Amino acid sequence: MSISLIGRGVQESVTLKLNQTFAILKAKGEPVIHLGGGEPKSKAPIDAITAIASHLNSGEVRYAPVDGSIDMKKAIIRYTLDKYNRKVEPENIVASSGAKQALMVALQAILDPQDEVIFPAPYWVSYPEMVKLCGGIPVPVTPEDGSFIPRMQDITQNVTSYTKAIIINSPNNPSGAVYPASFIKEIVEFCEEKSIYLIMDDIYHQLVYNGYKTANPFDYVKDFSDNSKLIIINGVSKAYAMTGFRIGWAVGNKKLIEVMANIQGHQTSGPSILLQKAAIGAINGVQSSIESLRTTLENNRKVLIQQINAFDGLYLEEPNGTFYAFVDFSAYDKDSTRLSNFLLEKVRVLTMPGIEFGKEGYLRLSFCGSIKDIIEGIERIKWAIDPNSPNELYIGERKLVRDWS
Ligand code: PMP
Repeated sequence: MSISLIGRGVQESVTLKLNQTFAILKAKGEPVIHLGGGEPKSKAPIDAITAIASHLNSGEVRYAPVDGSIDMKKAIIRYTLDKYNRKVEPENIVASSGAKQALMVALQAILDPQDEVIFPAPYWVSYPEMVKLCGGIPVPVTPEDGSFIPRMQDITQNVTSYTKAIIINSPNNPSGAVYPASFIKEIVEFCEEKSIYLIMDDIYHQLVYNGYKTANPFDYVKDFSDNSKLIIINGVSKAYAMTGFRIGWAVGNKKLIEVMANIQGHQTSGPSILLQKAAIGAINGVQSSIESLRTTLENNRKVLIQQINAFDGLYLEEPNGTFYAFVDFSAYDKDSTRLSNFLLEKVRVLTMPGIEFGKEGYLRLSFCGSIKDIIEGIERIKWAIDPNSPNELYIGERKLVRDWS
């Protein structure tokens, strides 16, 4: 059997694999705690459910337009006006099966083999693999000052004649960092001037805390015409807690969107009409579920930060968005994959290894689960790695004995 070069070059999604491992352990009755999750635990908004149910009841579930239904586009236009203060047209929009597909199709539409795509580290696990799937070259850039916030010179130093696109994800998965408006302004203006595509992955833009606000890239684009290189990616997965509905979208210049729709048309066709109905219901419906989710997450975040700060040897740059904290565990183990495996094996706590996000020595801990899980999960981690811990720990009825030092 021969496998393509691209097929061979792409790595498995470690986050999805660890989610599977969690499900297997849970099904076996293991007392496993998931601190690696990437989705809110709340229910989808009721308006999403009634919208999908009524379309399903009609019994007529047909193909949807390749780039999204008229109503889906209207909802996205409204969303873009409401959140970004920019009136876009239906031709500026393609709805896809998740923000993931919107990103992938955007990259397929713009990359030629060997083109380079820059993105700051730490980064979302899928960016390097998506770029490789298009035959491009991922160029992760670690901020020189060691922080999670890139500066313009970190980016410009890495721009070459092959640079086709830059991906910016703020609030950032995994660090929770919200990039300052000054940086967003600079990068938007830089990309518009140099004709480099700027893909803003805004999937977490509504989940911010502590009074933080995400910058609006449209504020810095005077002319959103076919010359504009700005692409905004969004979706219902995170803020509406609708990960399983698989609806995301891209807003970009009309020429690019047309090409993206052509690609999507041969790949998957339009996203399921049922799921679009649900997304439309959520976007056009009562918005209170977002604030309620945000408040819950803000509270969880506080608890997680307290737990981490009470833990000697760990360092945390506090997250101001998303539902992730990216914690420096290097004082205990510099190898994040080894540490993550150790924690799962010894105390049944699932964490995501930092190396998968381009930063070794860190673990990504989520605060989208329950407060009970956050507290118990971190207690178990502490017991496992702190050499001064007592020799035994009870997980329910199960007694654990430290046989490592
Ligand atoms: N971008 C980032 C940064 C993400 O974290 C995720 C989901 N983990 C996505 C995109 C994809 O979202 P969707 O579920 O809409 O495909």
